[in-house]
Amino acid sequence: MPKPTASITTQPGKAVSQLCPNCGLCCDSTLFADVELRAGDNAKRLRQLGLTLVPKGRNKTAFAQPCACFGGSLCGIYQDRPERCRQFECGLLRRVEANTMTPNAALKAISETKRRVEEVRGLLRSMGQRNEQTALTHRYAAAMSAPIDLADEGAAERHGKLMLAVNDLMTILQRDFLR
Ligand code: SF4
Ligand code: SF4
Repeated sequence: MPKPTASITTQPGKAVSQLCPNCGLCCDSTLFADVELRAGDNAKRLRQLGLTLVPKGRNKTAFAQPCACFGGSLCGIYQDRPERCRQFECGLLRRVEANTMTPNAALKAISETKRRVEEVRGLLRSMGQRNEQTALTHRYAAAMSAPIDLADEGAAERHGKLMLAVNDLMTILQRDFLR
């Protein structure tokens, strides 16, 4: 989430500049299916900036991911991004900031994770889940709940491959990004 744009006046930290433009996993729905607004967020302003806000539960408001303000590698509303986006730092970012991991090691981990995300996306597409504007986890749930066509010899195999690929991806996300 904390990615810089060319026009920011509040400069991102060095680790953010090194990692985030090469990542985007906290904005593209890999890590989160949605982001809840927090106290201090200006919902009206965020709507004007392009976020589609929806009620979540009884009292909360959220916007769905992939984020409408994510430009593929940069946050389009960096200066005005919501509180949750300002506060979130993934595990890799925290380790690089604390000098317990080198930027190169973190970039390698990001690259490998993105490769695995692409593998999952490819499997989802092959199972008919082609809407890239829907969060990865929702596409996965839809693919797994669809009945398996027994006349299609490859269907059960794709199902199994997707389960394994998502399981491996979740392990990496928990280990490297969410701790
Ligand atoms: S507003 Fe969107 S693109 Fe910007 S940091 Fe938050 S989730 Fe990422
Ligand atoms: S997951 Fe971490 S490295 Fe990637 S964009 Fe978000 S904060 Fe930056």
